[in-house]
Amino acid sequence: MQADKKDIRALSKEQLREFFVTNGDKAFRGNQIYEWLWSKSAHSFENMTNVSKETRTMLEANFVINHVKVDTMQRSEDGTVKNAVRLHDDLIVESVLIPTKTRTTACVSSQVGCSLDCNFCATARLKRMRNLTPGEIYDQVVAIDNESKLYYDRPLSNIVFMGMGEPLMNYPNVMKAIDMITSNEGLGMSPKRITVSTSGVSKMIKKMADDEVKFNLAVSLHSAIEAIRNEIMPFTKSFPLPELREALEYWYAKTKSKITYEYVVWKNINDDKASIDALVKFCKHVPCKVNLIEYNAIDDGDFQQADEQATKDYITALERNNIVVKVRKSRGKDIDAACGQLANKS
Ligand code: SAH
Repeated sequence: MQADKKDIRALSKEQLREFFVTNGDKAFRGNQIYEWLWSKSAHSFENMTNVSKETRTMLEANFVINHVKVDTMQRSEDGTVKNAVRLHDDLIVESVLIPTKTRTTACVSSQVGCSLDCNFCATARLKRMRNLTPGEIYDQVVAIDNESKLYYDRPLSNIVFMGMGEPLMNYPNVMKAIDMITSNEGLGMSPKRITVSTSGVSKMIKKMADDEVKFNLAVSLHSAIEAIRNEIMPFTKSFPLPELREALEYWYAKTKSKITYEYVVWKNINDDKASIDALVKFCKHVPCKVNLIEYNAIDDGDFQQADEQATKDYITALERNNIVVKVRKSRGKDIDAACGQLANKS
């Protein structure tokens, strides 16, 4: 029975080597299979062409490879590509390829649905079904790398964990996936080209700092006023701003890596002077930059993009305080591929 067999990619290289020794083969066979599973991204044992038929049959009898499959692919008029990715248990997650002149960025999911409850985000309305495995995260990246080569004639250059889910609520699997993405036994990408985005799970930010991770950190802040943040992101009542601030100070002290704050300016929510002043003050605690993200409406009257003047006021105040600020235009809106729109609509 397929269901009884273990996903072979849950095994470390050492465990695979031991498996072969226990079964009367050489430890080296483990390295060979490991290479097929990760850097060669084999979807089946049959594909492992330089492995004997006997070994392949033995692996088939003991394991499965829970590989993902790109179910549907949509292309936006701006070149953005969205994949609906089918998992072995038929659940679906989405990932996005975002091309610019100089980069191709993969935006990948870390959970099926999301553990959090941000009121402005479409993904939050899908309840969290389960965490993705390291292999399933890795496969999304490989799929986008292939599409980047196919459509844009260049490999993937950057990865952001800004798809479905809260990466820090699936920390061990996200870390294992990043290990494989950055390892020469996987994709060999530089961790400096990877950004993990969190809604602000303070204790896990500290854990990452202790683990001396080398990738970048982004925090979806959206308000530096506790009452407003609690209102629009209810779970943050368990992660108050002073704790977040302390965790970010800890992060910077350990990693010396600047933080990016993601921030949407909404009409009548955070488009006032008090909100601007609070953000400027919050930004002074730790070296950072601010990305002002365009709001992508998700059929809901509560949230509306603020007037252009409000964004300008934010920019003026931040720049006056020497804080780097960028306005991020939405990509892939026509195919529901933009921030906060991933909800398996298709
Ligand atoms: N849970 C993580 C990873 C998701 S990243 C996090 O929150 O950081 C998705 C980003 O898009 C977050 O910054 C989120 O706040 C933002 N976002 C969510 N809904 C949005 C919407 N409707 N319009 C614009 N940005 C949105």
